Amino acid sequence: MPFSMLKNLKVLVVDDDATTRLALRGVLSRQGYQVVEAHNGQQGIEAAQVHRPHLILMDVVMPELDGYSACAQIRLLMGDESLPIIMLTAADDMQSIEMAFNAGATDFITKPINWALLTERVRYALRTGGLNREVRRSRLREAAVRRVAGLGYWEWSLGGDTLAWSEELEPLTGVAAHHLANLEALIEYTHPDDRKRLLSGLERARDTGSKLDLEFRLLAGTDERVLRLIGERGTQGEDANQLFGVFQDLTDSRRAEALVDYLALHDETTGLGNRRLFVRQVRNAMDGFRINSNKVLLVGTIDLSRFGRYNESLGESGADKLLGLVGQRLKDGAGPVGVEVARVGGDEFAVMVLAQDEGGAAQRFQGLLSKLTQPFRVGEHEIFLALSAGYALFPGDVSDAESLLKHAQDAQRQARRTGHQCLRASSDQDMARQQRGQLALERDLHKALERQEFFLLYQPQMDFAAGRIAGAEALIRWRHPTLGVVPPVQFVPLLEETGLIHEVGAWVVQEACRQAAAWERAGLNLRIGVNLSPRQFLSLGLFDTVAHACRSAGASPSLIELEITESLTMQDVEHSTELLQEFRQAGFLIALDDFGIGHSSMEYLLKFPIDVIKIDRAFVSQITTARGDRAIVRAMTVLGQSLGMTVIAEGVENQRPCDFIEAVGVNEVQGYLIGKPMPPQELEALARGYTRPL
Ligand code: C2E
Ligand code: CA
Ligand code: CA
Repeated sequence: MPFSMLKNLKVLVVDDDATTRLALRGVLSRQGYQVVEAHNGQQGIEAAQVHRPHLILMDVVMPELDGYSACAQIRLLMGDESLPIIMLTAADDMQSIEMAFNAGATDFITKPINWALLTERVRYALRTGGLNREVRRSRLREAAVRRVAGLGYWEWSLGGDTLAWSEELEPLTGVAAHHLANLEALIEYTHPDDRKRLLSGLERARDTGSKLDLEFRLLAGTDERVLRLIGERGTQGEDANQLFGVFQDLTDSRRAEALVDYLALHDETTGLGNRRLFVRQVRNAMDGFRINSNKVLLVGTIDLSRFGRYNESLGESGADKLLGLVGQRLKDGAGPVGVEVARVGGDEFAVMVLAQDEGGAAQRFQGLLSKLTQPFRVGEHEIFLALSAGYALFPGDVSDAESLLKHAQDAQRQARRTGHQCLRASSDQDMARQQRGQLALERDLHKALERQEFFLLYQPQMDFAAGRIAGAEALIRWRHPTLGVVPPVQFVPLLEETGLIHEVGAWVVQEACRQAAAWERAGLNLRIGVNLSPRQFLSLGLFDTVAHACRSAGASPSLIELEITESLTMQDVEHSTELLQEFRQAGFLIALDDFGIGHSSMEYLLKFPIDVIKIDRAFVSQITTARGDRAIVRAMTVLGQSLGMTVIAEGVENQRPCDFIEAVGVNEVQGYLIGKPMPPQELEALARGYTRPL
């Protein structure tokens, strides 16, 4: 079902409350859906059977038959797993949510209903429900054909080599029976890649009497049909000189399945492969290398700088169009062999080049880049893209596909930071140079605090339910006199090693508290997250440092959230528990950072007094494509919330993952989509004027 046809679909609303029904009808019909209503569970079941809706919204609490039973019965009676059923449960009632899933619900929405959220979830549920239904339907169709008379019949007379087909052949495949009158003709109409297999299958069945069952592609003019041939050689009398059986046209079901696969591996906007597919392709290419290794594999990434501004100037559809054009140009430039192109992030593309040598590979990559520097046209706008790129080589830089891509991305970030267009990932020689650089950096770091070179940026966190900026994470930056702004990954480890982290960490806490107090006075109710690094956390005076900083700044401890990681608490469980209790008693909030990547996350949730969990970016980045990650995020969310914690998803860069995150029930979101880390004035402006983009 094309997505544009999602509207005009039927939604059944089962709720005993007339006002809710009225409101639901209003909102849903405005979206173009056809709405059917039922007043209670029993009526709901009947209406589901009569109207066969595409989606059901079901209240939990209803007289006579409640929502759970109605949901379970509908599942039982209709036997259609692809029918989305969304339960409307009371807010924050974990037990009812569990029961909803047990009854076979696809999703839940808490009451009071957030209307914007509702329409989003309905749209997504219909979209996935539609695809599942398509697959299911063609499977059913297949089975029905087999059962009833729709199967075609074929027969190969071995003596005279004639093939006969029953009358279903032409309506099913578009090829008339007389075109396939003997083996040679059949092979000619077969896709070249399938010929050998078909021929040897038929011959084997002829010569050994084994059963034939294979699929091949039949060339039907410009179309290509997938045909399944089942057959056997006869055993008695005249039959012994014949091979016969049934044929089946599987094209539709194979196509629906292929579409589902395709969507899981491709990006809708550009039609290019996504990160998953790309990594797979790189992996395949690398595997090929183990056998034949006189070639070079280049993996490059291209990041469109400040792409976000096109969302503003061109609108979302214009920006999508621009992405499509970029993808198309890369695809055209790639040519038929040796180069693969994918979209691996919101504004990030990846390229894989197979070439004879390093020079050749780099040249092809550069060639593609130069194509992107030509202007693009979207409507009346002429657009010149700014981009940064990086690449890594195999064999050489690293040995697995994920790391190759990561190295390319690191090089690309380095390029962006240093104002280059394209850089190669660092080799060992560069590493040595880098180490020398580290020493110089360390020397400068000692003076950075007194020279007031550190500053904090704040990254917003948006509360889904309230639709407002509820908090911000303070992230340190270092304005180096010659290198410019240095990101924390490059100096926080050095601070740790040198022990400077105590002083600098204390400064961060003071500065964050000062800012929190200033915002509090200005009437902005913002929670501020402060990162604590391991050594800092283990130092003895931490509680006093934080408590003192908060008190002298005049900030409320309830607005200061200390972000710790689990590796940190693990080192000394007893000390950690005590310290965290102390913080809690003083009114501070504790967040467990990078949640999920450690091995004992769940256990630690139960053990420590934790208020907030921050789900690591690693789970979020794949959430639209990896069902496993979705399940993990949901489990972490449900568990965290059942313990009364607020759940924040980190690193959300695009709208689609954000929708998924919201549908899973996560409370807040932090990521480039909402805002990058920004100076306090900007954050303040954002928080004041924030309205949810929908
Ligand atoms: P973190 O605590 O996990 O912080 C989140 C990091 O993810 C930030 O990087 C942020 O800019 C980045 N990020 C946020 N949203 C997105 C997104 O949508 N996509 C992507 N790709 N990245 C996103 P940043 O500021 O470079 O900080 C890196 C790490 O440095 C932090 O990771 C934290 O561990 C450490 N750090 C930062 N500030 C401090 C500090 O004041 N003290 C200590 N001890 N560590 C700090
Ligand atoms: Ca953090
Ligand atoms: Ca984090």
